[in-house]
Amino acid sequence: MPKTIIYDLTTQELEDQLCSLRQPNFRVKQIQQGIYNKLYASFDEFENIPKDLRAKLDDLFLINPISVEQTLKSRDGNTEKVLFKCLDGSLIETVLMRFERRNSVCISTQVGCPMGCVFCSTGQMGFQRNLSSGEILAQVVYFQRLMHAEGEAVRNIVYMGMGEPFLNYEQVSKSLDALTDPERLGIGSRKITVSSVGVLPKIAKFGTDHPQVNLAISLHAPNDELRSQLLPANRIYPLHALMKTCREYVEATHRKLTFEYALIDQVNDTPEHAQEFADLVQGMLCIVNLIALNPSKDYPTPGSSREKVEAFRQILVDNGVQVTVRLRRGIEIKAGCGQLASPENFK
Ligand code: SF4
Repeated sequence: MPKTIIYDLTTQELEDQLCSLRQPNFRVKQIQQGIYNKLYASFDEFENIPKDLRAKLDDLFLINPISVEQTLKSRDGNTEKVLFKCLDGSLIETVLMRFERRNSVCISTQVGCPMGCVFCSTGQMGFQRNLSSGEILAQVVYFQRLMHAEGEAVRNIVYMGMGEPFLNYEQVSKSLDALTDPERLGIGSRKITVSSVGVLPKIAKFGTDHPQVNLAISLHAPNDELRSQLLPANRIYPLHALMKTCREYVEATHRKLTFEYALIDQVNDTPEHAQEFADLVQGMLCIVNLIALNPSKDYPTPGSSREKVEAFRQILVDNGVQVTVRLRRGIEIKAGCGQLASPENFK
């Protein structure tokens, strides 16, 4: 029988498994402390658990469901991308971004992605499968170990790697429960952002299940015609329905929503597009995150120039919209948004 990935188990599920091994309840805490706080990589490290039980646990459970295939570091050393191999041989990418006191990890939720956004390398590689919650969490644990070894910690998590999180809602939700549980990884909900192109049926549910976790919507175009060209998902969930759902989400949660907008030269970056975008989000509790599109071999049009990004930003600001401009990071190792597409990136 294949071993169970221990990070796949909820507290209740772990309790049930240990109960069937006739173990007292305090073992749950010992094991969770070991794998989530002390970040043990093997059952041998559990000195507070008798040896015969450790051997039994090792027969049943697996601590590391992903292994490092390759690592790439940016020239300045601040961005690090790891290609992980899952147990079935699937490959995924995860990115660490070092910032002073807010080291962030960008995690994947699927192997590939079925959404097919035209400018995104992941979208162009197709879809293989969903990741389990344990495979999602293992990416965080790997970098938490790395950071602890440097006397640091992972403080922010962004679900912006490979895949559309809301197409794998159940496992993503389960991973969020473990990340935010003080007894497990204990990362503050507000330090976590889930990014979606807008799978409407899941937005309200996410607002109910995880009201304190940040939500970012990848908008990238201010009208249906253009958005459907860039993001095929818009044909299923058109802009007016998406914006209505976003406004309902904000009303229900009172949380500020982020709109991601990748500026593409002469495609979605004109003053008219900026005005249309400003009208779309008028009066809404939101922040717009602008970034010039990262280069990709699958999409030849470059990102907008700095001047065009600034002009776009100014129009939004003049319309009372809150805006930040995101810096590109890790471009030379293809670790930026829309660039993840293992294993080509590591060749
Ligand atoms: Fe999938 Fe996100 Fe890429 Fe779109 S941008 S194809 S949703 S990974």
